[in-house]
Amino acid sequence: MAEIIIKNLRKEFGDFTAVQSSSFKIEDGEFFMLLGPSGCGKTTTLRMIAGLELPTSGEIYIDGEEVSQKPASQRDIAMVFQMFALYPHMNVRKNISYPLVSQGMPGAQVKEKVAEVAKILGIEDILNRSVGGLSGGDRQRVALGRAIVRDPKAFMMDEPLGALDAEFREHMAEELRALHDRMGATTVYVTHDQLEAMQMGDKIVVMNHGVIEQFGTPQDIYDKPATMFVANFIGSPPMNFLKGHGTLDVGATAVNLRHHSILIPEMREPFDGDITVGVRPEHVRLSDEGSYRGEILATEYLGTTQIVTLATDAGELKARIGSERRANVGDTVGLAFNASTLTLFNSQTGNALR
Ligand code: ATP
Repeated sequence: MAEIIIKNLRKEFGDFTAVQSSSFKIEDGEFFMLLGPSGCGKTTTLRMIAGLELPTSGEIYIDGEEVSQKPASQRDIAMVFQMFALYPHMNVRKNISYPLVSQGMPGAQVKEKVAEVAKILGIEDILNRSVGGLSGGDRQRVALGRAIVRDPKAFMMDEPLGALDAEFREHMAEELRALHDRMGATTVYVTHDQLEAMQMGDKIVVMNHGVIEQFGTPQDIYDKPATMFVANFIGSPPMNFLKGHGTLDVGATAVNLRHHSILIPEMREPFDGDITVGVRPEHVRLSDEGSYRGEILATEYLGTTQIVTLATDAGELKARIGSERRANVGDTVGLAFNASTLTLFNSQTGNALR
């Protein structure tokens, strides 16, 4: 088990900066997600923690010990890759025991460890099978078995479920999370899938262009996005952004977009500049009255809820509402928001105003 501290970590490849001065802390036993779009620097960050890539500058501490320039072999970290490279000529037992045998562990002890791991993963009955004929899920479990059998300080997982189809992926995600909860080992997990990050992670770092946009619990990141990038990246459909003119009637407090001067209760001081108002689709209410109105452009039925797309004078907006409410394309309806559910952004910087 390990606590991992990252301080001002930076990685340059020639004159390209892949990771810019990242700092965050991974608590002992945490399931920690590195999330962001392709090319944002997640894999590079993970590889630096594992010791497969050395940082240009900055520090990495594992359990208080600085390891920034140490090779992977001295960090006691296990990597689990998307492409599970099993040894095809060995059976399941040999694949799992390989890391122990190559460490020189005595046979009886190896047998005991493999049995323990096979039990955790529920693969006791396939130990003598050849890996060639296994299903995708079993191959994944064998690869995990090989990673966990060493009892490393921490696991690094790079999109481990990336190659699986949606249904199976969800099932394996649940299994992985359950396995983590049983073992309690610090796990750093790279994904570009926001849903996976939200479902599995204790904490999430959201990266974009090598920069950390936000670091927090899934709930923090969803409810209090620090930037418009995060607000747009997390949530499906993503947060609506309203800008321009008009007055949004949000009940007790009016948000006046025309004059770019907004004061709502949670803001410490008024802000005089271009403001973008962010509202999650589930916080948009449709009503029969109200001065702020929109025309229904489309509806998408999702079972218990529906997504309604509306045209408003501040732009297009999506609302997630109960599917029992009638919403007809072409109708004009009133829109209402609760001030406490809005996030206000500085339009110029994209940063949330707090
Ligand atoms: P993906 O999900 O596509 O792997 P990522 O967020 O994991 O994306 P990285 O693999 O960390 O991104 O790459 C970040 C940037 O650094 C990319 O633009 C990539 O092309 C670049 N990069 C990564 N490794 C190298 C390298 N060895 N040499 C040069 N550029 C690199």
